Amino acid sequence: MCYDSFMTQTNIGFDGRKFLTDAEHQTYLRRMPVRYVNNKLKGVDVCYVCGYIAQENNPLQVAHKVPFGVGIIKYRLTPEWLDSEHNLVKAHRKICNKLAELTEEDISALVHPTSN
Ligand SMILES: [Zn+2]
Repeated sequence: MCYDSFMTQTNIGFDGRKFLTDAEHQTYLRRMPVRYVNNKLKGVDVCYVCGYIAQENNPLQVAHKVPFGVGIIKYRLTPEWLDSEHNLVKAHRKICNKLAELTEEDISALVHPTSN
């Protein structure tokens, strides 16, 4: 059994919660959790940013709309939510991947949709 497979099988998860508890957040400030995105969005074959398919020198890869580290530290989101379809898109590795990231304002609106 490979290490990644072992780790995902032993994860007990966050019961579908969007936000970390205080204790979980404190733990992740000590050491960041691992992201698991490799098998996500398998059926998606166009870029979220530009709408084009993968190119030979610029493949599509999974990108986080809310960047993983910022989502954990600043917005106290669970790794489960950050690695879910709520937050993942496919984007070209060059240029588009960075453009897939939301602005701080858009992240706030996504994370706290009722505030403003
Ligand atoms: Zn693109």
